[in-house]
Amino acid sequence: MFPIAAKIPGMVSLEFCRRMPKVELHVHLEGSIRPETVLKLAQRHDIKLPAADLDGLREWYKFRDFPHFVEIYVSVSKCLRTADDIELIAREFLQGQAEQNIWHSEATYSATTIEKHNGIPWPDQHAALKRALEYGRNELGISANFILDIVRGDPAERALELAHWVVGAKDDGVCALGLAGIEGLCPASEYAAAYDFVHDAGMPVVPHAGETKGAESMIDVIQATHPVRIGHGVRCLENADLVKQLREIQMPLEVNPSSNVCLGVFPSMDEHPLPNLLDEGLYVTINSDDPPMFGTSLSEEYYRCAQAFGFSEDILWSLSLNAANAALLPAEEKRTLARRMSEGFPHSDEEDDN
Ligand SMILES: [Zn+2]
Repeated sequence: MFPIAAKIPGMVSLEFCRRMPKVELHVHLEGSIRPETVLKLAQRHDIKLPAADLDGLREWYKFRDFPHFVEIYVSVSKCLRTADDIELIAREFLQGQAEQNIWHSEATYSATTIEKHNGIPWPDQHAALKRALEYGRNELGISANFILDIVRGDPAERALELAHWVVGAKDDGVCALGLAGIEGLCPASEYAAAYDFVHDAGMPVVPHAGETKGAESMIDVIQATHPVRIGHGVRCLENADLVKQLREIQMPLEVNPSSNVCLGVFPSMDEHPLPNLLDEGLYVTINSDDPPMFGTSLSEEYYRCAQAFGFSEDILWSLSLNAANAALLPAEEKRTLARRMSEGFPHSDEEDDN
């Protein structure tokens, strides 16, 4: 339906990547908080941060290594003390998405962590997220839903409680149950009761896998969670049988190139295997994961791929439509989204005809 048109790879501009209508499927709400907002929240609640001004905070935010990344993530999450804080970060997230022409987002959010550290009950968190979604729809003209993730290492009963929250918020701002945290910390089957509960309610599971651990971790999540998409999945290339299986079922992979490079999964963008995934006929989408922490944005990710792999505008556009078609929306809404994106973006095919 949306073939990758052959076109001579040319210079794709960052402006093109910003202007192109996009859908983002793998981005963390707490990982999207800007340093400016962290400072605002810290001042609001009199919280001491490793840096007292914006320049210092921006420096602290820069990716160094995984322990430092976790330190930032935890410190930032601890700044969320009230439901209003959650509404603020969700609104700012949506503003950032709208500024980049991201028409629909599915953002991962660690509701149990926020409740555990900050004592904000889920109903209050949910109400705050929904207020932000309404703002996004009415004021910004964009849509979003949240994926509530089990953090590996959480007790199984906590995960089951989370699954109840997910099902209770079905068609009401939450679209799936996720699985994140440190890959390999425990087998995915640890949370079987939670997956069963959401599946019985007709909702999907979208786990992270194949990032810091290899193909065996992906096989583990596929068997345990019966996912509809896989977060990352870039290391499937280590196992030819797995690649064949993913190709046959056209399992969407949520690829996050800069995140992979920052976390040392691959040494550089040039050595990122995204082109190999496409060559294997796999279903690829491009995403930003934790954009300010990895010094990127979704527009930047498309641009960096164009730069590193010589992708044409048409390839980027087909990857953008891949994301639209893998969104967790009813079929009719997905078709409408893809059609509106195409209509709102008179593209090179049409331009070439002129
Ligand atoms: Zn992620």
